[in-house]
Amino acid sequence: MSKAMKIGIGSILVGLAVLGLKLLAWWMTGSVALLSDAMESTVNVATAIAALVAIRVAARPADANHPYGHHKAELFSAVLEGVMIILAALLILREAWHAFQTAHPLIAPLDGLVVNGAASVLNGVWCWVLLRQGRRFRSPALVADGRHLLSDVISSLGVTFGVLVAIQTGWAWMDPAMAALVAVNILWSGWKVMQESLSGLMDESLSEGVLADVRKVIATESVGAVEAHDLRTRTAGAGTFIEFHLVVPGSLSVSEAHGMCDRVEAGLKALIEGCVVTIHVEPEEKAKHKGIVVL
Ligand code: ZN
Ligand code: ZN
Repeated sequence: MSKAMKIGIGSILVGLAVLGLKLLAWWMTGSVALLSDAMESTVNVATAIAALVAIRVAARPADANHPYGHHKAELFSAVLEGVMIILAALLILREAWHAFQTAHPLIAPLDGLVVNGAASVLNGVWCWVLLRQGRRFRSPALVADGRHLLSDVISSLGVTFGVLVAIQTGWAWMDPAMAALVAVNILWSGWKVMQESLSGLMDESLSEGVLADVRKVIATESVGAVEAHDLRTRTAGAGTFIEFHLVVPGSLSVSEAHGMCDRVEAGLKALIEGCVVTIHVEPEEKAKHKGIVVL
């Protein structure tokens, strides 16, 4: 089993344990704020599953059925999870609204907060593991996961504080108000998960900055060509596809033109690891001298 998979499975197990503890805290107290805190953990479980799908399915090499690879499996599962996260947030909002109208004091509030606190400690420890491993393996994805978990721990502390205030002051509305606040935050993270993946499913182009580097590589590696035009790029999860037309002098032999293409391809692969490059070679009378001209 690879290191990435071990960490992925660890994230799911920790997420499930934290979710269980937080649900227990909710069940003990009847606090909607603690319920919303628990639902926040479903976001972590969902994203950890998406990451595992990405490692297992999206990393599969291209086959006869899927000649362009399986990258989009990752995006597809992330969109599904975004939908589930948004649904969870809407359910909390409904619960909060209900609790707001029929405000009642919490049962066993302190015991519940202790159980909830134990869940936060577990989250905090795993957050530390993710950040440490992420820095060690220079993995931005792991560091991002760790940071996300850290924000959960902080919002958990906020919820705990809110429930404590509710107990101390007897302000029953404080509990659903905290729940609604967390629900809005969950709604936002669900939307972000979905939005990022949707742009991938829609064949989004490389970012302007990377595109500029791609143009630079094409220009420097295709010495002797007349121009390059109709550059199109698309990303699908971890996969990148680059295609363009390369206009060369008509007198160039097929072997020479192919050698030029191989140099450009090698340059682009050095820039973006594992990118798929398709180059259409044209004689010089096809030069456009307009549009996305690179040379
Ligand atoms: Zn052309
Ligand atoms: Zn070739």
